[in-house]
Amino acid sequence: MLSSCMKRLNRFMKHYICTGGCEGLSDKPGVCNTKTCPKHGKPLTECDCKDGKHTTALKKTG
Ligand SMILES: [Zn+2]
Ligand SMILES: [Zn+2]
Repeated sequence: MLSSCMKRLNRFMKHYICTGGCEGLSDKPGVCNTKTCPKHGKPLTECDCKDGKHTTALKKTG
């Protein structure tokens, strides 16, 4: 389970998200650790959005 504390990251900084739909979010590079996510174990995508919608990262993956 992703803890709610992960969502308290400063969204104005560079962050890394999972684009598999699990809403995984980290402040440093890593892989998705949500076992039920289609992208489990896959690298997180770098994002620097300022609106919390992760449009930057989502654009990269289409
Ligand atoms: Zn994921
Ligand atoms: Zn973002």
